[in-house]
Amino acid sequence: MNSRIWLSSPHLSGNEIKYIEDAFEKNWVTSIGDNLNDFENKLEEYLGEDSYVILLNTCTSAIHLALIECGIGYGDEVICQSMTFSASANPITYCGATPIFVDSESDTWNICPIALEEAIVDRISKGVKPKAIIAVHLYGMPYKIDEIHRVAHKHNIPIIEDAAEALGSTYKGKATGTFGRFGTISFNGNKIITTSGGGALICQSKKEKERVIFLATQARDDAPHYQHSQIGYNYRMSNILAGIGRGQMEVLEDRIIARRAMNSFYQNLFADINGVEVFKEPSTDFYSNHWLSAILIDSKVTGKTREDLLLAFLEDNIESRPLWKPMHLQPIFKNLPYYGSNVSEKLFENGLCLPSGSNLTDQDRFRISKVVVDFFK
Ligand SMILES: *Cc1c(COP(=O)(O)O)cnc(C)c1O
Repeated sequence: MNSRIWLSSPHLSGNEIKYIEDAFEKNWVTSIGDNLNDFENKLEEYLGEDSYVILLNTCTSAIHLALIECGIGYGDEVICQSMTFSASANPITYCGATPIFVDSESDTWNICPIALEEAIVDRISKGVKPKAIIAVHLYGMPYKIDEIHRVAHKHNIPIIEDAAEALGSTYKGKATGTFGRFGTISFNGNKIITTSGGGALICQSKKEKERVIFLATQARDDAPHYQHSQIGYNYRMSNILAGIGRGQMEVLEDRIIARRAMNSFYQNLFADINGVEVFKEPSTDFYSNHWLSAILIDSKVTGKTREDLLLAFLEDNIESRPLWKPMHLQPIFKNLPYYGSNVSEKLFENGLCLPSGSNLTDQDRFRISKVVVDFFK
């Protein structure tokens, strides 16, 4: 059996272990220390001068804290892009609020400005104005920032950008995650850089950063004993894991270049195959890190489905995966309100994510090409 080709696996630089050892030597085996400070500073520099970053244990926690900071509570409604990973929507329910799902548009596969406005207007007419919007940069592709933020601004609703998959992506030259009231990033093992598990919240003031750190470290009042005036969380990243992030940050640019090269590889590979479209930026305003490369298969043209190709890849021990199954189709969320016109359903039906890691070799690409060429012959 050929060795496994993964969709997206961790890709270490080699320096991570040096920073972990440093934490051991200094005995900062806790949730404060140089690794946290340095990784946070490097991210702030990378994202731009007005960004304040808080490292957390997961991106899911970052979304939860962003919702809390937006004042979301029991009985509120929060709009969420339907086509996404469940971690975008779950934290809404942690707050006792209800997710309202909105369809994608076909250029970026992200939240549709028209369906978004329709949802907001309809919810208001039903007597509950949505209190926040969670918009996602799926697979690293920025959503239509200008259009979406125009709608949100018109109705005065804050946006939380789920940039879990989009570290390194930009829109009109500005980093994704820095446009909304909050942005969130994931360092889970499959993301563009990793700390094994981890996340970050991006906010826009030092004061807000301090508040978030306070909430993320059990909300201890300034008193000599343990005293609490509000509910806290244990969401801070460990200084050990921040050491992995510090090493990963040194190679972020290389990782983006490699992921984008994988996307170019697929553009070439599928260029002459009718009925298959590789997901790409709709214009030069959009710059995707291409965390995952994906295709849409028109089975009327090719006579084959995404499931057929998935199985053909599996025969050669190559991992591929359907696109995210929209939240409004999930058993747990299927009775909640949904606004849209079948775009995300069709994407889910016809889309497939392909091996996209920055650590794939020429031999891996050769095996992938061979499966594709034989399959569409
Ligand atoms: C990975 C991911 C998350 C969750 O990140 P964790 O760090 O695993 O909590 C949230 N949203 C999207 C879109 C993701 O891909």
